[in-house]
Amino acid sequence: MVMNLWVEEEASGLNGLDELVYRSTLLGRDRSVANWGGGNTSMKSDEVDFRGRQTTVLWVKGSGSDLATITRQGFTGLRLEDILPLLDRQEMSDAEMTAYLAHCLLDPGMPRQSIETLMHAFLPFKHIDHTHPDSIIALATSRHGEAIAGDIFGNEVIWEPYIRPGFKLAQSIASKLQKHPGAGAVILAKHGLITWGDTSHTCYEKTLQIINRAGEYIASRAADHPVFGGVKIAAAAQPQGDQMLAQALPVLRGAIGKNQHMILQLDQSPATLEFVNGMSSRQLALSGAACPDHLVHTKYVPLWVDFDPSQQSETELLAALQHGVEEYAEQYQQYYEENKTPDYPMDDPYPRVILMPGLGMLTTGKDARMADISAQLFQRAIQVMRGASGIDRYAAMTPAEAFGVEYWPLERYKLTLLPPECELARQIALITGAASGIGRALARRFAQEGAHVVIADIDLNGAQALANELCEAHGFMRSMAVACDVTSEESITEAFRQTIMTYGGLDVVVSNAGLASAHEIESTTLSEWNKMFDVLSTGYFLVAREAFRTWRKQKLGGNLIFIASKNAVVPSKKAGAYNAAKAAELHLARTLAAEGGDAGIRVNVICPDAVIQGSNIWNSTWREARAKEYGIQPDEIENYFRQRSILNVNVFPEDIAEAALFLASSRSAKTTGAMLMVDGGIPGAFVR
Ligand code: ZN
Repeated sequence: MVMNLWVEEEASGLNGLDELVYRSTLLGRDRSVANWGGGNTSMKSDEVDFRGRQTTVLWVKGSGSDLATITRQGFTGLRLEDILPLLDRQEMSDAEMTAYLAHCLLDPGMPRQSIETLMHAFLPFKHIDHTHPDSIIALATSRHGEAIAGDIFGNEVIWEPYIRPGFKLAQSIASKLQKHPGAGAVILAKHGLITWGDTSHTCYEKTLQIINRAGEYIASRAADHPVFGGVKIAAAAQPQGDQMLAQALPVLRGAIGKNQHMILQLDQSPATLEFVNGMSSRQLALSGAACPDHLVHTKYVPLWVDFDPSQQSETELLAALQHGVEEYAEQYQQYYEENKTPDYPMDDPYPRVILMPGLGMLTTGKDARMADISAQLFQRAIQVMRGASGIDRYAAMTPAEAFGVEYWPLERYKLTLLPPECELARQIALITGAASGIGRALARRFAQEGAHVVIADIDLNGAQALANELCEAHGFMRSMAVACDVTSEESITEAFRQTIMTYGGLDVVVSNAGLASAHEIESTTLSEWNKMFDVLSTGYFLVAREAFRTWRKQKLGGNLIFIASKNAVVPSKKAGAYNAAKAAELHLARTLAAEGGDAGIRVNVICPDAVIQGSNIWNSTWREARAKEYGIQPDEIENYFRQRSILNVNVFPEDIAEAALFLASSRSAKTTGAMLMVDGGIPGAFVR
């Protein structure tokens, strides 16, 4: 049952556009009423135009806003007297409609109007809601939906057969209403609901009332038979199920990422598991999408993986995924060929939604936010299929109807408005020691360039603070923190596992965790020596090994960057343990470069020198020891290093981040086994 969220104390002071904003956000707050990005609301009011004339304005949601978060700026105002003459037209293409409505804007700076604007303009009501509620779409996708709607609502509701939104649909609804002036709502087959009221409050209540009457009817029928035909496959035992997934996700990401890398999201919520485990779910899912708004982000059908975790092995899951993806791509190609118009080339043929009985649902997107939106929309589709199959038989959109939406010029136009993708878009990067110093600068730079950044650090609190900062600055789930002690195999395996379970795979690994110590050889203890080697050599080996294992499964290449040191090539006195461990790191990188080439894995090294700012190393006794070695005071270190460099500069964490960005990006696609000095110029470290 949809809850009434109207609070009179909140609404009473509002009028005009603010009241419309309030109602819209209430509708959007409940995703069973208005799915993400879907639905639109409107209001008609008398305003004064730029020449001081009175005019009636239609305020309607602009394209690209979401009702849940819409503000005044999300609405666009159009002069109604310019729009209404269109009612008498015979034909109007989408392009003509869009161009015409652009002339009706009250202010040229307002956002482009919703595709469904004419539906609001042609109906003579002050307040109108158009939503895509689960219970109504369940009726609207039932084989006998029109008759069922008649049983529930009698003559109160008008039934409108499916056509794609636009001029014809708006005109058809308007003419039906003229013939049935007593109607209180319109159900759009395979699409949604239109409701109205004299005030914002009565409009909202009408919307909820219609939704809930349909919901009650569905609930009263649901008891008659088991949901989704009963349970076919039991949810996988844990942790075995997730262990299988951790192995399977990189394989899947590789299989769907040949043309462009994707970010994956796993959904194991009870409602989703109930669906993927159901007896009739395969047939329901594969019969097609319920609503144009869903399929733009879920595609016409999901990939259904025929698998039973209680009967089959991990190897069988990997085979089923690989085979499933290939078959899906072939079928998508066929769907495209059968329906194509010459206008648009075929999209990426891979699934957005992958359903795995016993294990859950995976969704894919160009970033974590889009993968999450696909998940949210398929969760809505599940509720629609549940409702429709509970009262009748689910009757999805046809392939031709779906294609008409997927390759609709107006939807394609929206894609052209998107900004170009950043340099590291679609990349997942794990950085060790990322909570401070060079690692933190790298994480910030990578996130700025579009990467999803995993902050791996022994200091989990510091890592979490940085991950929060990056999500705040760059968007939903763009960063995550994992605890990682690079000297522990278990800790590294777990950090990689969490990365894979969150994003589906991995593209870039920067081994950066470090520490330093300085003593003359006679007083270097064995434990100090071992500590340097544990972190700087063994730690880099363990991280690299885990990265290679992931990349070999994923088959999308890989990019490993070691942050070494100038000291790896030119020794500074009295730091034998540190220097030797850094030299080992450097030689390991070269070996790995030679070894990874056949899998498209690149391995490169950055050698910074004297990066003091933000560094934990330089806050330690290392600073005092180095100052003593150079015969200066500890606070003269920065100055000393600057003068030591040929360019007479200090090196900052951001300088290392810039070099790492180059090596992580495709600009260095043909560079591997290389060493890039970022040291201000130290002749002793010149490569030879
Ligand atoms: Zn709609």
